[in-house]
Amino acid sequence: MTLAPPGPPPVLPADNAHLIGGDWVPAASGEVIEVLNPATGQVLARVPRGTAADVDAAVSAATAAFPAWRDTSPSARAALLTRWAALIDERESELDQLESQEVGRPHWGPTPMAGMLRFIAGQADKVSGLSLPAHSPDVLGLTLREPYGVVGSVIPWNAPGPMFANDVGAAIAAGNTIVIKPAEDAPLTPLALARLALEAGIPPGVVNVVTGYGPEAGAAIPAHPGVARMSFTGSPATGSAVMEACAKRIIPLHLELGGKSPQVVLADADLAAAIPAIVRGITLNTGQICAAGSRVVVDRSVHAEVVRGLAEGLASVTVGPWYENVQMGPLINATQRERVLGYLDAGRQEGAELVVGGGVPSGERFDDGFFVEATLFDRVEPGMRIAQEEIFGPVLSVIPVDGPEEALAVANGTDYGLVASVWTSDVGKAVTMSRGLQAGQVAVNAALGAGLIGGPFGGYKRSGFGRTMGADAVLNYTQVKTVSLRGTA
Ligand code: NAD
Repeated sequence: MTLAPPGPPPVLPADNAHLIGGDWVPAASGEVIEVLNPATGQVLARVPRGTAADVDAAVSAATAAFPAWRDTSPSARAALLTRWAALIDERESELDQLESQEVGRPHWGPTPMAGMLRFIAGQADKVSGLSLPAHSPDVLGLTLREPYGVVGSVIPWNAPGPMFANDVGAAIAAGNTIVIKPAEDAPLTPLALARLALEAGIPPGVVNVVTGYGPEAGAAIPAHPGVARMSFTGSPATGSAVMEACAKRIIPLHLELGGKSPQVVLADADLAAAIPAIVRGITLNTGQICAAGSRVVVDRSVHAEVVRGLAEGLASVTVGPWYENVQMGPLINATQRERVLGYLDAGRQEGAELVVGGGVPSGERFDDGFFVEATLFDRVEPGMRIAQEEIFGPVLSVIPVDGPEEALAVANGTDYGLVASVWTSDVGKAVTMSRGLQAGQVAVNAALGAGLIGGPFGGYKRSGFGRTMGADAVLNYTQVKTVSLRGTA
């Protein structure tokens, strides 16, 4: 039975308004962006089409709010973040529904957002400096960690809630105020979270959300003279443009970019654990996860068994609109689907062996959404485009190798370095691979990380630099001042 798609839940604030200085206002231009339901192509809501004028107003509001927020005691800031987390808990099912609606994903399980914010709140009153040795006994030396002021952030659409909570939480825990632009495809959960931040008592102007397109609203943030530090999560191409804008103004930035994460399956792996985890890792959120393990680098001795298991697993993934009882929803939009279909063609043309999927699922219920099939390519060569470029879709490439040394070389043989998994029951090989894999996160016997609390997250190589999450995230939102005091006596 096909269910009707529900409308946005009441946690979504006023229609066609973004948040500047505590007020819900339309875009200065008066124009709007339609946010679509990716399963049906129908309009879900409208948000302001912000431009440089809206960013300017938001930076003014954030500048005005900064001195009082900086001087708010860290424990009071922590209490407000904790209250924000409690409101997120109270509205959890609505927030989950809203994020599913705009991203098109089936229910993910409990949202990590409140937990992330509680962890960050716990860091707010632990930001501290050092006492320093001095040449003379009448001198006292110490370091202070101070906020930057107004910080800017641009985030993507694939996990808009956690991305927003994490980045905003770390920035304001350290005493900064923030102007953040969510992605045009998924701005609704961020707006709902901003509303709950206000309700929690976080003062107006501390958190400002400007919705809009990247080149219009996003580009205006790093270019604004009032923004002192930048954070960007998204594609390498846009990250490079944001970095250029920051270079022009000489402001620091933090980049969280894409990935081409390897799943290294060694000869002694527990295949019964590895195969379903790899299938889930590439079909969760329809493969639109920066950490998705899209390359299976498998020892030739278990290659046939792994391919058989992955083929069965991917062929049995149920696909459909997210509000039905399915495992995999649509891609986010028509452009993204064209991109993924282009990679499916490239894989065939380059001579990879298509085992499962490879196109658009057939049936009337798929006509209006942006669906693709979960796809498996075997006998992929490490240099093929489907083995090198981030597809951001449910597409697995299997690369057979001979032994752990070749596995390591192939796993490290891309420009990316976000996440890497190794499947083995030999602790010695686990240690060697953990040290050898060039990635910001290595997971042993787990596909998307083994579920740490407070583990820093970020990239090696072209996957970016800087770390979100964990205590590092809050420290990264501070700058160090060295103070030396000479006694007058
Ligand atoms: P994208 O780069 O197209 O867009 C990301 C954001 O940048 C959006 O808000 C967009 O409006 C904005 N933007 C576009 N042009 C801009 C410009 N010129 N100046 C400023 N902002 C601009 O990326 P996407 O397609 O939305 O997201 C997918 C990418 O994000 C993938 O590469 C994925 O791996 C990456 N990602 C990385 C992480 C991570 O933590 N490393 C997490 C999630 C997604």
